[in-house]
Amino acid sequence: MQFLLESLTDLNASLTARGSSLIVLQGKPSDIFPKIFKDWSINRLCFEYDTEPYAKERDAEVLQLASAHGIETHTPVSHTLYDLNMLVAKSPGGKAPLTMKGFEKLIDSVGNPLPPAPDPPSKLPPPAPGAKYCGDGNKQSRVPSLVDIGYPPDQATTPFKGGESVALARLADSLSDKDWVAKFEKPKGNPAHFVKPATTVLSPYLKFGCLSPRLFHSQLVAIYAEKKGKHTVPPVSLRGQLLWREFSYLCGASIKNFDRMEGNIVCRQIPWKRNNIELLTAWEEGRTGYPWIDAIMTQLKKQGWMHHLARHSVACFLTRGDLWCSWEEGRDVFDKLLLDADWAINSFNWQWLSASAFFSQYFRVYSPIAFGKQYDPKGTYIRHFLPVLKDMPDKYIYEPWTAPRSVQEAARCIIGKDYPLPIVDHSVVSKENTGKMKIAYAAGKEGDDKVVVIVGGPSSKKPRIGDE
Ligand code: FAD
Repeated sequence: MQFLLESLTDLNASLTARGSSLIVLQGKPSDIFPKIFKDWSINRLCFEYDTEPYAKERDAEVLQLASAHGIETHTPVSHTLYDLNMLVAKSPGGKAPLTMKGFEKLIDSVGNPLPPAPDPPSKLPPPAPGAKYCGDGNKQSRVPSLVDIGYPPDQATTPFKGGESVALARLADSLSDKDWVAKFEKPKGNPAHFVKPATTVLSPYLKFGCLSPRLFHSQLVAIYAEKKGKHTVPPVSLRGQLLWREFSYLCGASIKNFDRMEGNIVCRQIPWKRNNIELLTAWEEGRTGYPWIDAIMTQLKKQGWMHHLARHSVACFLTRGDLWCSWEEGRDVFDKLLLDADWAINSFNWQWLSASAFFSQYFRVYSPIAFGKQYDPKGTYIRHFLPVLKDMPDKYIYEPWTAPRSVQEAARCIIGKDYPLPIVDHSVVSKENTGKMKIAYAAGKEGDDKVVVIVGGPSSKKPRIGDE
């Protein structure tokens, strides 16, 4: 919420610098709009086209209200690179592709997205005189504070601040090293790098509309043109990451019930143990006893962002790897804590990581010990996010329960008291769970030939060190 308010404050500053200002109205659009339509003599309403089910319902209501008041509406597509309806219409047989390969083919056939909109003029009209209006007649139309909207005062521990200005500076900084852009290759990159992350950390800015994906895309295309074919390509390139985003949105917009297992045609039906509050809460609160997993969940809680492969580790651990909880429950925790929490992208990736859809190599499980160790053998990342383990010798940092008592005492961290014992035995449960996945896959084949399993993309590379 703080990130959103920072973004609004920044937007207000940009508008004010152009002689206008932002007016913030609090309340449901269906309650507020009819009144301001009248009070402000509105004749044209513009808002961004949105494909999320919640937004679709809200926007349908607003469009109806606008029409009832004789107001012209304009809903440009700017949150995605392309108009998703156009992509569906251009798909073979009018059916959106269900593989990244198919999606790339479709994108190649439609060409680059529209260029980003030009910068707004340096002078904008001032707000209408009557526009100093507030939803309930009392509140100010300024950007509210956290307290104004019922939250405790800002206690944010994240280094990522909201706003277009920060987004544009971050974009410029990320793309300033053109060689880095040209060589960018997912899933390479170190998930344990937290001071200077291995990827752009532009996701929160794309999510909140602080950064236009078309601007990002156009700058990438310009760099690739300079590099004359000497650059990585989708799906692993940086442009490929924007295409993953777009593909997630297309899936979200075209697959019914995309945010759940039941009634979702691409999602394998797997008998997860739901409502296992003890395991789910231990995972969410970083108390699994596996330092790599707990450090990642602590970074999520403190910073609202973690590297893609770190997300892989904890999502696999929660679902098919170790705890056998449902991907929907993990998705909901991410939805609550991620700065970039995004309805379509989050559900897409959770289905991928739980091998419920898009990815079928369920037997490739991330080890909560070996996977992190290959990137950060000294456990610097763990020591930073879990200071209780900061004096644990390198040898035991990924498996502190194996440290002799004398070592634990010297490190002032007794396992089982100061830091938890492992909540499950990975070597045992991962095998059991793989067996359960095998059964679910076999049942799926027999029972439902409509389930689509797609292999491809960054995570389906050959097994790497740390896969178990
Ligand atoms: P970069 O590597 O710099 O990529 C640039 C942009 O491409 C990102 O900002 C993002 O918009 C897009 N992108 C990158 N990877 C993916 C991907 N795998 N799928 C779709 N778009 C991608 N990303 C979100 O934005 N919101 C989420 O809610 C979200 N939930 C996730 C849940 C799980 C379980 C996993 C494994 C991944 C999730 N991701 C999510 C995808 C990805 O991890 C993040 O987009 C990425 O780590 C953001 O960091 P970045 O901006 O530095 O990415």
